Amino acid sequence: MHKLSGVQRAFARRCLACGWWLGVAALLIQAGSMPHAFASTATTRLISQTNHPPKSVGQHVNLSRMFPGVVYYHGPASQKQVALTFDDGPDMRYTPQILDILKKYHVKATFFVLGFRAKAHPDMVRRMVREGHTIGNHSWNHLDQVRLAPDKVRDQVVRADKVLYPLVGYHPELFRPPYGKADPDTVRIISGMGYKVIDWSVDTRDWAGTPVPAILSLVRKEVRPGGIILEHCAGNANVDLSNTVQALPQVIQYLRAQGYQLVTVPQLIGTER
Ligand SMILES: [Zn+2]
Repeated sequence: MHKLSGVQRAFARRCLACGWWLGVAALLIQAGSMPHAFASTATTRLISQTNHPPKSVGQHVNLSRMFPGVVYYHGPASQKQVALTFDDGPDMRYTPQILDILKKYHVKATFFVLGFRAKAHPDMVRRMVREGHTIGNHSWNHLDQVRLAPDKVRDQVVRADKVLYPLVGYHPELFRPPYGKADPDTVRIISGMGYKVIDWSVDTRDWAGTPVPAILSLVRKEVRPGGIILEHCAGNANVDLSNTVQALPQVIQYLRAQGYQLVTVPQLIGTER
């Protein structure tokens, strides 16, 4: 889940509680005074999470331009495809419900799992694989990679991979940085280990307890061909993802009604896994 520092939490509460903060953040971002891309600072990503300005495919150009074929905020817009992604799992509470829904609707999704949770719930990772979903590495325990020394960044990735490899049957080749935070140095380290770095173009803000109609409205507003949709399938004890579960059938039905094919991230970006 998007764990925040004390200061960030305080700011987030104000953001959620007070439209003023939201308005200021929106103006700052619109004015281009903050890089509206993979965040280079904690504040930037936090604002984009708490304020959630509309993101359109193609808006995130910085790191994906610097690292073409390595950093993705979305896939090609040439086909009407989108990828559902679920972060921070697995758990035994929400992950099974999400897998049930995906199975019912015959949707293959991409799960960016945390190493320590995969270790705690290995059967859930096996189930993801068995049911045709793609597994990505989301680090060992969700630390902010940008603040870590290079060897710690590698350690976070390797530790998770050591748990994932025997469960998944291959070394996952997609990495999603915790909080979506990366900078050129972390991208160089992670891509040097053979990973593609996957962000997103549609943030449902489900981790914040966003109501079902608001989740649907965010999807409607922000989805474009090639989109990568961020949701969660687990979180800390205080995180309630029941709206994620409740909204999911409607999200799937809406996307299909709009003519979107729901694919995994590798299918979307044209890689093998
Ligand atoms: Zn996460």
